[in-house]
Amino acid sequence: MIDEKLQPILNDVLRRNAGETEFLQAVQEVLESLGRVIAKHPEYADNALIERICEPERQIIFRVPWVDDDNRVRINRGFRVQFNSALGPYKGGLRFHPSVNVGIVKFLGFEQIFKNALTGLPIGGGKGGSDFNPRGRSDGEIMRFCQSFMTELYRHLGEYTDVPAGDIGVGSREVGYLFGQYKRLTNRYEAAVMTGKGLVYGGSRARTEATGYGAAYFVERMLATRAGSFDGKRVVVSGSGNVAIYTIEKIREFGGKVIACSDSGGFVVDEEGIDLDLVKEIKQVRRGRISEYAELRPKARYQDQGSVWNVPCDIAMPSATQNELTGKDAKALIANGVVAVGEGANMPCTPEAVRLFHEAGVLFGPGKAANAGGVATSALEMQQNASRDSWTFEQTETRLAAIMHDIHDRCAATAEEYGRPGDYVLGANVAGFIRVAEAMKALGVI
Ligand code: GLU
Repeated sequence: MIDEKLQPILNDVLRRNAGETEFLQAVQEVLESLGRVIAKHPEYADNALIERICEPERQIIFRVPWVDDDNRVRINRGFRVQFNSALGPYKGGLRFHPSVNVGIVKFLGFEQIFKNALTGLPIGGGKGGSDFNPRGRSDGEIMRFCQSFMTELYRHLGEYTDVPAGDIGVGSREVGYLFGQYKRLTNRYEAAVMTGKGLVYGGSRARTEATGYGAAYFVERMLATRAGSFDGKRVVVSGSGNVAIYTIEKIREFGGKVIACSDSGGFVVDEEGIDLDLVKEIKQVRRGRISEYAELRPKARYQDQGSVWNVPCDIAMPSATQNELTGKDAKALIANGVVAVGEGANMPCTPEAVRLFHEAGVLFGPGKAANAGGVATSALEMQQNASRDSWTFEQTETRLAAIMHDIHDRCAATAEEYGRPGDYVLGANVAGFIRVAEAMKALGVI
């Protein structure tokens, strides 16, 4: 339910961004949480503060021409949405996937504002990407695409302006090519202009692992509020990319048993526990499909039909993509006795699924809190770059764990303060919003 004072704002956002389904979904969820805030702090409804948060500061759309291996010229569309810089330079990843359009980038950029605020670190919110499909492309094609993409984007970036990183389809290889082209074009070794860099040229230890590890830390803390833990639990993690892989790794350290993971083609169930080395070999080394897992582990089964969420589990960690877990999936999980859901991806649960989890009393950690470990460690990478220092893995992971615990506790405390104990969606939206709103108020109408 949306507060009547906020309804006109939502109507205006709907009118001005017609058809941008995911963006509107993300805005609606945040505005639903803000009713309780303006009841307590009417000053946040002044100076069009909420309207300003919903409007990106700047949106860049550009042509990305590149030459494929057959010497044909190809064209893709590039995006960067610089959403909010009240707390620091715009910060957020780049996604290369055929589904990318302006609405997707705006939804991700909008979520990033609150996520980044929750980390407590000095980073604003932004996101970018392209409808380029990296699947099946050679290394040379990937490099030429990244170079062309950066040839336009570089003029909009800077360590004090906008600092991209990776997301779906953009990993350390792509970050390397993008950073290399930025360096060449500007003649500046501006290490902190991108994060997710390789260790040899200014990356941070534990950045690769950070999103997945952070999500596991968040859920472990959430379970502890009910005297639970991952230990001995059956867990399903969707996806098999960077987030899923390191979520699985940390859950295993916590004593949990991950029995299924997936990719866009289907999912594998391995009742003995997913063999993570095998998933890493298939996904990171061979850049292959998860179906290969079942070919190599005869006891596992692969399904290209149905939903991974029908696999009975105690804990679910959707870590693939937006709106992958529907109301129907939520019903199946609840019927099978799920106790906690932690979003490793951005907005993977539909609003109906989230509502059902809340109604059933399932612990639910929204992505903007649960997966903030990646961007938080990006901010730690920027700190190391600024001080020309490099921390140990242990030092970095200790900071990450502390940040995740702090995010969890602040969301929980905020939910309680605003009258909905245990509602991490409300807690995350309100705690993130207040930090951004305070900065925006202080900076005047800009
Ligand atoms: N793409 C990641 C996210 O969704 C990381 C962004 C970053 O490190 O800047 O938060």
